[in-house]
Amino acid sequence: MNTAIFLQYHKVTTKFELGGTWTHPSIFKRHVNFVKKKGLSGISRDLLKSLTWNEEAVLFTFDDAYKCVHELAFPMLREAGLNGAIFIVTKYIGGTNDWDLNFGFKFSHVGKSEIRELHENGWIIGSHTHTHPDLLRVSEKKLKEELKVSRQILEDIIGDEVFAIAYPYGRYDERVLESALEAGYTVGFATHKGKAYPGLEHMAIKRRGVYAIDLTIKAKVDYIPLWSEFERGKEFIISKAADIAALLRKVD
Ligand SMILES: [Zn+2]
Repeated sequence: MNTAIFLQYHKVTTKFELGGTWTHPSIFKRHVNFVKKKGLSGISRDLLKSLTWNEEAVLFTFDDAYKCVHELAFPMLREAGLNGAIFIVTKYIGGTNDWDLNFGFKFSHVGKSEIRELHENGWIIGSHTHTHPDLLRVSEKKLKEELKVSRQILEDIIGDEVFAIAYPYGRYDERVLESALEAGYTVGFATHKGKAYPGLEHMAIKRRGVYAIDLTIKAKVDYIPLWSEFERGKEFIISKAADIAALLRKVD
């Protein structure tokens, strides 16, 4: 399995929210143009499944599946000849982000018809579990349920196999990876953090987080001394905020 550039976004919107997990559409457009200019190629569904991409490949991924991703990011990527991957919290399909610590900033999630349209356009439709829990803190039974139910719901919507998953808050351990494999997933996405488990690398592929403050993705895509280290430091701090959000989640 080669490395490639896996970018992790959340919302592409002009609407401000406190969490910082959004990218302004004009900035997003710049990121897409940067990738195009560099001549990077996309990672199709089949390529992702076969785990045979090369270093010159890029995949824009979107966690939580907001409606704005379908409205704004999808047309921009399509115009550039690129696909994307979207990770869906299945209980909230067509709803709002009530599962999130949203500080009163409500955002809508994609509905079924939007999921189908993305799938028909070559997007990778993946699970982000059913209710977005911290998978490190749920029981064995709940873990299995979250993985199984979300996959089933998505497969029923698209009429196709769902093989990819992104772990909520980027939190996983060996138990989570093994359970995801057992539930039928063959590709798993983490954030930039988390332990590597030999033989399970394809179940915890690292991504570079892109946030509201990221006007450019240059230092995430290319290695630039000091600047790239600074980027990693920034992502580390932001991932700590994600850990806090995860710990504030009630375990049911
Ligand atoms: Zn999420």
